[in-house]
Amino acid sequence: PQRLEILGVPVDAVDMARAVAFADEAVRAESRPQSILAVNPEKVMSLAKDPWLAEFFRGGRLLIPDGIGVVWAAKLQHASLARVPGADLMQELCALAARRGYAIYLYGAKEEVSAAAAAHLQARHPSLRIAGRSNGYVPAERMGELVDAINRSGARILFVALGSPRQERWIAEHASRLQVSVIQGIGGTLDTLSG
Ligand code: UDP
Repeated sequence: PQRLEILGVPVDAVDMARAVAFADEAVRAESRPQSILAVNPEKVMSLAKDPWLAEFFRGGRLLIPDGIGVVWAAKLQHASLARVPGADLMQELCALAARRGYAIYLYGAKEEVSAAAAAHLQARHPSLRIAGRSNGYVPAERMGELVDAINRSGARILFVALGSPRQERWIAEHASRLQVSVIQGIGGTLDTLSG
């Protein structure tokens, strides 16, 4: 997809269907982890302040126009963007995973939030295979075990819900050892799913 620059931040001109197709192709190709990151006005602010984060975003494989503010800002530049909310994309990826039999893994949020979100997703997508989940409070010394658990689970799509920029730092640090094909950073989405 075409990569635009909106308010100094890169964002890809994809709609929901193309974002889902991107993930599907990555899983079918058994590709190395491809990160999907959400661009919204809060990110525009934090990328301006955090050069590391800005650089990491530039390297992201798919930068979705998550926030309506990004869509409006694009209009001012006479560029047209469809909004792809990260939380909606997560649901679409779960629907895709359920259809195709791709297992998913959930990492992040408090234990009870993670459990409730998993139950919610399972109810909404009955044939979805949730290969595993972990809360987001794994101590640093057990991170290797978490990576092994994700890899052993056979998950193809990993959702990372640690908030930003914590999730981006985690993805940057661990992606090279992960055997999933798609990693979506979903911020606080599990909290809204479980609530
Ligand atoms: N979170 C987590 N591990 C952490 C810190 C936060 O899993 O070490 C989760 C938290 O439970 C919530 C989400 O990340 O679901 C966003 O947390 P918070 O609002 O505190 O982070 P922010 O988005 O403000 O950075």
